[in-house]
Amino acid sequence: MPKKIVISAFVFFMLSSVFVLYCQTQLRQGSEKISTGYANILSNSGEALRIFNKRIKVGFLSSLLKRKAGMDLSVEGQLSEKVDIIVERVKMILEMHPRNFNVQINVLPDAQSVRAAYRKKYYRDADFVAFYAPAEKAIYIAADEAKANILAHELAHAVIDQFFGVAAPTKIHEILAQYVDENFED
Ligand SMILES: [Zn+2]
Repeated sequence: MPKKIVISAFVFFMLSSVFVLYCQTQLRQGSEKISTGYANILSNSGEALRIFNKRIKVGFLSSLLKRKAGMDLSVEGQLSEKVDIIVERVKMILEMHPRNFNVQINVLPDAQSVRAAYRKKYYRDADFVAFYAPAEKAIYIAADEAKANILAHELAHAVIDQFFGVAAPTKIHEILAQYVDENFED
């Protein structure tokens, strides 16, 4: 093969790789939304969603996951199935099945962003990696410190909130939510 063609092909390959990378970066910076049966998962970082998905492990429920998810291996498909399975488990542990349950899950990159969101909302500091904001039916969670039982705990707040319809006392909320994350993997 003539040297010129080889060089041209190489340059073309490099340029198209750069273009693909550029497009992926643009995509990552856009606002992402995943709608599941029970939740709208929002993030302004595709990378945060990927990390979140990786850290949410529901291995002990994997039989359910495979049956439901089939061959869909995208981050969107995996996360959607996992969140809905966790919601089902939380409702089962609490024996509370609110009608038309729906929650928003805001996936932020790290704990610092979660603390900033909390401060902006409640004008005080807290050392949380996740919290539930009842007024907007929304969970805020740090992707890089997320765990299935932390998500289950916050989802429990959402389920309790929507089951009673009125604001339950904070102490009752916390005791029940803790009961869920302690029993989540049993
Ligand atoms: Zn709590």
